[in-house]
Amino acid sequence: MDTRWLFGDQLGRHFLDAADQPALLIESRAVFRRRRFHRQKAHLVLSAMRHRAAELGEQCTYVRADTYRAGLEQVDGPLSVCHPTSHAAFDFVSGLDGVEVLPARGYATSLEDFAAWAGDRGDKRLLLENFYREARRRHDVLMDGAEPAGGRWNFDADNREPPPKQATLGVDEPWWPSEDEIDDEVRHDLDRWAADGDVAFVGEDGPRRFAATRTEALHVLRDFVAHRLPEFGRHEDAILDADSWMAHSLLSAPLNLGLLDPLEVVGRAEQAYRDGDVPIASAEGFVRQVIGWRDYVWHLYWQQPRSYRHRNALDATGRLPKWFAELDHGSVDAACLSATLRDLSRHGWVHHIPRLMVLGNYAMQRGWRPTQVTDWFHRMFVDGYDWVMVPNVVGMSQYADGGVMATKPYAGGGAYIDRMSDYCGGCRYDPKVRVGDDACPFTAGYWAFLHRNRERLEGNQRIAQPLRGLDRLKDLDALVEQEDERGSRAP
Ligand code: SF4
Repeated sequence: MDTRWLFGDQLGRHFLDAADQPALLIESRAVFRRRRFHRQKAHLVLSAMRHRAAELGEQCTYVRADTYRAGLEQVDGPLSVCHPTSHAAFDFVSGLDGVEVLPARGYATSLEDFAAWAGDRGDKRLLLENFYREARRRHDVLMDGAEPAGGRWNFDADNREPPPKQATLGVDEPWWPSEDEIDDEVRHDLDRWAADGDVAFVGEDGPRRFAATRTEALHVLRDFVAHRLPEFGRHEDAILDADSWMAHSLLSAPLNLGLLDPLEVVGRAEQAYRDGDVPIASAEGFVRQVIGWRDYVWHLYWQQPRSYRHRNALDATGRLPKWFAELDHGSVDAACLSATLRDLSRHGWVHHIPRLMVLGNYAMQRGWRPTQVTDWFHRMFVDGYDWVMVPNVVGMSQYADGGVMATKPYAGGGAYIDRMSDYCGGCRYDPKVRVGDDACPFTAGYWAFLHRNRERLEGNQRIAQPLRGLDRLKDLDALVEQEDERGSRAP
């Protein structure tokens, strides 16, 4: 049997053809030297790789090398590898002699099935909703015969409630993994590399919060389904300052490390619904995230041309300021932005709405270059990979693809953040004020963004109403001058 080369995001048992297949893992230092990652992301990836090597024991060759190429020079014999998850890694393995590249694993829908589905749609848009329904049917998930369970495909309307009027959601805290001697060794190595000046990190070190082994990942999954999934749906899009985790699953990191298979994950959620333990809106909302959105993003990454990552439809050329790039939350007065940067610094993770409506929204309003924003999201988030962040940031968050993924820019003012979070009450700014000392930088930034991009957005019917609102602003000149002056300063 050939040796299976496993990348650091291919760590589950489904990346081997047999339980006793020889495996190769290469830990490349150059990956960390080239880019400044969040400390906890570097820790998680190295911890997961070393844990997998320890589980496999003598079956696994673990090579520590400067680069993958240097690591491969230390290995004999034919290798096979499952389709890597980035363009760069795919091109690299495809150009190697003696390495067989196998189809991708770890996603519910195969690349071939997606291509066939996209081909059938001809010139029509590849909408998430259509892809998701097809995936539900294909994999028979939450289906009652030919009909969707609960009588509807989509419970989004039930899942957009603002936060409750209390400090936390009131669900149990997630189950946390315990660190072991492998984590000690990783921490020691990262400290040493940083002290040598070899690599540099962003964000706080801290106890490892995310699953690094399959056993831990299954524990997180069981705990989530039993204690948190019932409350997941309703407040899925809400934010509470004192409750970073709310009812979110924290499964994106172990899923993207390849420790869990998406169909086993949604199978557990469906079973809880069938057992009467979880309402359909929660089960459906979660299934949509895993075999809908996650797979959809994966497929768009491969389906779009390679030039997609460089799209910049809004001509945004600003540089990411240092305070943002380095998560300097103490220099930010805006309560929502400061708290989000704080949580990201502490954990390497915040949930999808602070990502989209606080961080991404602010970057788009300020006109920061989408390639820089994409790179930053990739480096800062424990679950961030190239395939995740290119579509999510270029398409969804920054509207840099001009509408391939999203039908309108996800720009929002302070009113949205005020409705969906509890930040504004304790903020020195006022979400209703657009000009003056108390002007909310998100509210003012929203109008300045629309003004700057008016001509580019004019043909978009979904943005026609806000553009008419812009025409009615009596203080637009003062607002634009104020926001030009604010620029990329910490708000
Ligand atoms: Fe954020 Fe504006 Fe609300 Fe302050 S007032 S928390 S800056 S949205």
